[in-house]
Amino acid sequence: MKTLVVFDFDHTIVDDNSDTWVIRSTPEQTLPDWLKKSYQSGRWTEYMGRVLTYIGDQSVRPEHMRSVMESIPLTDGMIELLTFISENKKDIDCIIISDSNSIFIEWVLHASGLKSAVDDVFTNPANIDARGYMTLRCFHAHDCEQCPINLCKRKVLRDFKEKQAKADVHYERICYIGDGGNDFCPIKELKGGDIAMPRKGFTLEKLLCKAFSEGAESLPAKIMPWTSGNEILRELRAIIE
Ligand SMILES: [Mg+2]
Ligand SMILES: [Zn+2]
Repeated sequence: MKTLVVFDFDHTIVDDNSDTWVIRSTPEQTLPDWLKKSYQSGRWTEYMGRVLTYIGDQSVRPEHMRSVMESIPLTDGMIELLTFISENKKDIDCIIISDSNSIFIEWVLHASGLKSAVDDVFTNPANIDARGYMTLRCFHAHDCEQCPINLCKRKVLRDFKEKQAKADVHYERICYIGDGGNDFCPIKELKGGDIAMPRKGFTLEKLLCKAFSEGAESLPAKIMPWTSGNEILRELRAIIE
């Protein structure tokens, strides 16, 4: 049976937030206050829609946005890790679940030459319209009260496992790699034998520590915090060999 590796994108595969990195494509490299102040808690995707409209209004061309996005740094060791995954596709399936968007992820994966590692990407669909403006839609609707309205990563993971099971693909183990608050919900979907891999020093690790100290029993057996993708690579290599 295969191993399923699930990646978050921002601050996991890339060492920054793609939604804030894109602001570097504007002439001023910053957003006006009225726009920053328009953010409402839990409604990030709608806010990003306004940011992308503003970027279009500044006559920023998609090609320029693309070159800026291609300069976002990858997290240490991620090239090695994703290269290993691409070389071991018979043992490893790999998906990305992200609150970024389909175009940013496509640009970054394409530029890094690591696309072949990834089987599927679940994220907010983006489009470039006839004017050259990027537009965004919410990934899905869900009824989880812990997650932002556009995306519950636990639902994505559960739906993916069900879809795979119908095709008779069952996973021996799931490794979930992430950093953020919205990576906590999908970790509750993991079972004994699966591994939660929170980035050291980031929100997810703190939430897991807190859950443990409060005696949560529904958490997976194994938690492996990481600093570099190379540590994950060593673990993955040991698993499949
Ligand atoms: Mg993240
Ligand atoms: Zn959720």
